Amino acid sequence: MSEETSKPLNFIERIVKEDLESGKVTSVRTRFPPEPNGYLHIGHAKSIWLNFGLAQKFGGKCNLRMDDTNPEKEDEEYVESIKADVQWLGYQWDGEVHYASDYFDQLYDWAVYLIKAGKAFVCDLTADEMRAYRGTLTEAGKESPFRTRSVEENLELFTQMRDGAFPDGSRTLRVKIDMASSNINLRDPVIYRIKRATHHQTGDKWCIYPSYDYAHGQSDAIEGISHSVCTLEFEVHRPLYEWFIDNIPVPAQPHQYEFSRLNINYTVTSKRKLKQLVDEKHVDGWNDPRMPTVSGLRRRGFTPKAINDFCEMAGVTKVEGVVDLGMLEFAIREDLNNISPRAMCVLRPLKVTLTNYPDDQVETMTAPVHPQNEAMGTRAMPFCREILIDQDDFREEANKQYKRLVLGKRVRLRNSYVIEADEAVKDADGTIIEVRARVIEDTVGKDPADGVKAKGVIHWVSARDNVDCEVRLYDRLFSDPAPDAGGKNFLEFMNPHSLEILNGCKGEIGLAQATLDDRYQFEREGYFVLDSKYSTTEKPVFNRVIGLKDTWEKK
Ligand code: ATP
Ligand code: MG
Repeated sequence: MSEETSKPLNFIERIVKEDLESGKVTSVRTRFPPEPNGYLHIGHAKSIWLNFGLAQKFGGKCNLRMDDTNPEKEDEEYVESIKADVQWLGYQWDGEVHYASDYFDQLYDWAVYLIKAGKAFVCDLTADEMRAYRGTLTEAGKESPFRTRSVEENLELFTQMRDGAFPDGSRTLRVKIDMASSNINLRDPVIYRIKRATHHQTGDKWCIYPSYDYAHGQSDAIEGISHSVCTLEFEVHRPLYEWFIDNIPVPAQPHQYEFSRLNINYTVTSKRKLKQLVDEKHVDGWNDPRMPTVSGLRRRGFTPKAINDFCEMAGVTKVEGVVDLGMLEFAIREDLNNISPRAMCVLRPLKVTLTNYPDDQVETMTAPVHPQNEAMGTRAMPFCREILIDQDDFREEANKQYKRLVLGKRVRLRNSYVIEADEAVKDADGTIIEVRARVIEDTVGKDPADGVKAKGVIHWVSARDNVDCEVRLYDRLFSDPAPDAGGKNFLEFMNPHSLEILNGCKGEIGLAQATLDDRYQFEREGYFVLDSKYSTTEKPVFNRVIGLKDTWEKK
């Protein structure tokens, strides 16, 4: 193993290690096999982290394969988004992108092989009849009356199926396994169906398409996959996966291993439901910053490191569980705390006039870019008679717990002077529109000479020289920990306060240089990144990635 030898191995890593040591496999090849019918979500990120991570750890390779056997729901847009997301997460697949559809000719030939071996037959049962014949978990199924067709007739009919002689859905190709099997997946499963659909890769070449179960293992074999890792719902499909490998002259013998899927509370991770949120415009597209999609997390300002760290923290097991969303939030906070330059931005500005400060004077205040990392340098902020503080940081009266600016009391302006408030100016409605205060002399980096210390520290910007911006505050998309559990309609549990847009926010001048790759800590407010969709040079729009502290549990 090349790296991180000190970390305990998860159970799949242990299997791979043992297989290499015992000589069961000589090299490791994994694959990530998305169906291009939607954008990738955080659950896929886990599968990507696991499959690409296994290859990295054991000096192997990982393929990216589009599992594209269902053309009606698939689209080239999804193919492109999947490629971009995998690369953004920091991984590169081996060679070209593969497609299950690359193997349609080979899969067809193997179906013919199964027919010739007397192991597959063309079935004329309708979908309803087939369901009735299938039996139940407690009752054996019944054999199709078409199961005894001759090899010649099957070959003839299957050729005609391919050539478009029959209407959609009128016939299927099924393998003969065991209608009495306790595993329903082995009750003569369908491996080809007739469907006239234009495929994003193969166009109109085919009007029959292989089933997922039939295509998947054979694609693994063609690509020489050593460890075919998938989620637990496929455990009951494994005997079928193995049946195909044993009954078809495939070039390799891949094995399937299952782990439990990643479920996160306050989140839905079903492509169908995420697509519904997009299609019905409950969110601003697949990359809405509140979406659990990789593209949404990217736009929100998450880092690949935080997502990969989270996948590692969540662990790899066979136990079905729900991971707390707080763990993902913890991972991003950790990463951003270490790397983010600091800046001050006043989200809800209140003007403070410093009455004893000369109108024509401007001082340059300096502050570290990162308090724990000197190498990141310093930043400069102009200070003058008129500054802005947050409305929440001033009260006319307050108790001792309130360590901000209060009439008659002092507060320190971060990286600047201590000031004392004298007067609150109000408009006709009684709303405070300005505070008049005084600078306490010689207090930059020093306590006041008269011994009356400031109780707290607040952030500020110059009222004359700042960056006008919009700030978007996000909260969890769902207010219920299990929005789609037990048949609940997840749309009913959308959090109406998941997006708050603030205009007229004022940031320190350095923010004018922000790029889409920079994530800042706005002091006392959280971590922020420019929004890739709405931000312009004239009007920066910042997304709050995450607040500084976990406040959700306290609500
Ligand atoms: P959905 O049910 O949302 O459509 P899916 O599993 O059908 O998801 P695929 O595109 O087939 O989506 O998934 C590609 C790979 O990602 C599969 O190997 C699948 O097992 C894995 N995967 C999907 N969701 C999760 C998840 N929540 N946790 C871990 N792995 C996942
Ligand atoms: Mg799937």
